[in-house]
Amino acid sequence: MAVALPSFLTAIMIMSRLMAFIGITRNNDMSSKLQSLVIAPKLSYDPSAIESASQDFGHIVKAVPQAVLLPSSPWDIASLVNFSYSNSVPFIIAARGNSHSVNGQAMAKNGVVIDMTSMKNGNGTGIRIASDGSYADVGGQQFWIDVLNATLGLGLTPVSWTDSLYLTVGGTLSNAGISGQTFQYGPQISNVYEIDVITGTADFVTCSPNNNSDLFYAALGGLGQFGIITRARIPLEPAPKRVKWVRMLYTDFSDFTRDQELLISKNGRNDNKALNYLEGSLLLDQGSLDNWRSSFFQPQDQPKIISLITKFRIVYCLEIVKHYDGQTKTTVDKDLQQLLKGLSYLPGFMFEKDAKYEEFLNRVHSEELKLKAKGLWDVPHPWLNLFIPKSKISDFNDGVFKSIVLQRNITTGPVLVYPMNRKKWDDRMSAVIPDEEIFYTVGLLQSSGFDDWRTFEDQNKEILQFCEKAGIKVKQYLPHYTTKEGWVNHFGSKWSTFQKRKLQFDPKLLLSPGQRIFNNNE
Ligand code: FAD
Repeated sequence: MAVALPSFLTAIMIMSRLMAFIGITRNNDMSSKLQSLVIAPKLSYDPSAIESASQDFGHIVKAVPQAVLLPSSPWDIASLVNFSYSNSVPFIIAARGNSHSVNGQAMAKNGVVIDMTSMKNGNGTGIRIASDGSYADVGGQQFWIDVLNATLGLGLTPVSWTDSLYLTVGGTLSNAGISGQTFQYGPQISNVYEIDVITGTADFVTCSPNNNSDLFYAALGGLGQFGIITRARIPLEPAPKRVKWVRMLYTDFSDFTRDQELLISKNGRNDNKALNYLEGSLLLDQGSLDNWRSSFFQPQDQPKIISLITKFRIVYCLEIVKHYDGQTKTTVDKDLQQLLKGLSYLPGFMFEKDAKYEEFLNRVHSEELKLKAKGLWDVPHPWLNLFIPKSKISDFNDGVFKSIVLQRNITTGPVLVYPMNRKKWDDRMSAVIPDEEIFYTVGLLQSSGFDDWRTFEDQNKEILQFCEKAGIKVKQYLPHYTTKEGWVNHFGSKWSTFQKRKLQFDPKLLLSPGQRIFNNNE
């Protein structure tokens, strides 16, 4: 029988909502059934466990689950999913990594949240490095900082990172995992050989480009919709020892972006002469020298930087890194000079640091600790992350940075702006990016008070409305939509494949409900 896919999915969605409703009215029924399971001792109803599973780094959304699973192996997860899948009244399930989402993406209202990090101490997959050093098998629950520490012990390292390393492997692979290495190596999802996934039908599947490839491409960048990633095989390379870390300031946006684009045009994976990292950010006059990315500048340099910001209101900061080790120690400065020759940064505004490789990679953590000590970390984070086609980045600067951001004058926290190369992404994966060969990521990583985050959300809305009116075809990174139309537009030509894969791998719509893609009325 041929059934049109959208109407079939709509029928399933209506049924699943009805079942979720019945599930809500039968909470006690579900709890008593859960208690009969072998994994019952690993289900927590403890108020503090429930409370922490109801929140995330955003501190904006709250959704209370019925229980939290503390698995000690992937089999515990499979057992929970299997129970829900085969139940006459299935319940929703969210894997929760480090809960660094900002819009409730790892929550499950009235369902069960799986605290992936509890597997760190159990007999789940930990971190195992291949005897020839070519890859590491890493549990989906592992933090990237643990992957770094384990691999560095053998002089090895993954190549594609995120700015914060206190994110889980499963969490970043469900989005993309981007940072200053992306222009050269692609996002983290482009640096995975194989994954183990527990699907919404409770099947435990090993997949790769050659084996169950549909699930491999679906899950990478798949926002947790197709399965729970319990292991990823990550390629490794020899680790450098140290880095030359440079920041250069600009007051002219087109000079800034021209130089960024020039630098990322040298991007061969094995090109020893290329940079190893490139990002960029705005320095704004509302105190951004004191945010979690800007303690780079030495105290003696700060007065002249601050007076530059006061004069121009926006200063653009290009940030780059070149790795080196014992062998390249004597040539790294020359190589760097060669790369920076002819750039248009402001004379006298180039600042340089020399750091250990791991100190550079873990740079956000020391700032996190400082903000935590001041009580400024666990506050609302009304973030907006966008991908912007290169052809429109100058319009974006004029309409957003120089107009909306300056006029509203509320932005506190880092604002990142840096380009990447489309060819380093794999279009078969679920992640969505703009069509152009070069596109920029812009991250407004704002912190607010508990009583004024709506003002920041209003600014975010204004930015999105401006882009729509100006014909700037942005794609959200870490996307957040509350309507089906929003998601359909977001996925564009990928939407029908995304729906088909959902039907195949999670037909009862159990997984990652907090993304609100297939259950956006809840
Ligand atoms: P969670 O927030 O716990 O989960 C995210 C989503 O993935 C949820 O839908 C969840 O259900 C699902 N999920 C979690 N684990 C699994 C799994 N094992 N299998 C399948 N689905 C799963 N992102 C970048 O790309 N680059 C950065 O530089 C960067 N820096 C950041 C810095 C900070 C301080 C913060 C707070 C976030 C940053 N992020 C960055 C965003 C971050 O990558 C995402 O928020 C990511 O989802 C967080 O990982 P997590 O482990 O906390 O996942």
